[in-house]
Amino acid sequence: MATSDITVKDKAFSIFIPENELYRRINELGARISEDYAGKDPLFIAVLNGAFMFAADLLKAVTIPCQITFVKVASYEAMQSRGEVEEILGLVEDLKDRHIIVLEDIVDTGLTMSELLKNISFFKPASLEVATLLLKPDALRRDLFLKYVGAEIPNKFVVGYGLDYDGFGRNLRDLYQLKEAN
Ligand code: IMP
Repeated sequence: MATSDITVKDKAFSIFIPENELYRRINELGARISEDYAGKDPLFIAVLNGAFMFAADLLKAVTIPCQITFVKVASYEAMQSRGEVEEILGLVEDLKDRHIIVLEDIVDTGLTMSELLKNISFFKPASLEVATLLLKPDALRRDLFLKYVGAEIPNKFVVGYGLDYDGFGRNLRDLYQLKEAN
C-alpha cells in the first residue's frame, strides 16, 4: 500500500502515480513495442541512473527477442537542469543497422534526449526511437518525436521509481510529486 506523504532528504512529496498504475502503463508500452518490433531484434539503450527500474519492468513486458545495454550521461543537478550534456559513457555495442529504442525515465527539457539521439544517429542505426516513462510537455524545449510515452505529467518535480532528488528516493516503489510550499 502506498504511503501518501513522504520526506525525501529535506523536501515533502505526495503520492502521484502508484506502482500498479505505473505497471499498467509499462505493460502497455511493452505490448506495443513487441508488436512494432517483431522480427527486428531491437537493442534497448537504457539511460542510467534514472531508467533502471523502468528498463527492468519494461523488458519483462517485451515478449520478442531483444537486447539491452546501459549508458550514462550527466545532465541534472539536484532539482535544476544544467542544460548541458556530458559524454555518453558505456556505449560499446555496434549500433550500425540495429533497431534502437532509447529508454529514459523522464524527458523534461529534452536537452539530454536530443543530444543522445544526435550521438546515437552518428552510428547509423536502422531505426531510432524513444520510450520514456514520463514526459513533461510544458518543460520541453526541443522538437522531439517520442514514440512511446508512459505518462504525460505537469511541470513539477517528481521522485521515486528510479527517479531521484539529489541521489535519494530512487528506491521508492511509487512515483511522488513535490508538495507546494505553503
Ligand atoms: P532534460 O535534459 O531536461 O530532459 O532532463 C532529463 C533528465 O533530468 C532525466 O533523465 C532525469 O534524470 C532528470 N529529471 C528531469 N526532471 C526530473 C524530475 O522531476 N525528477 C527527477 N529527475 C528529473
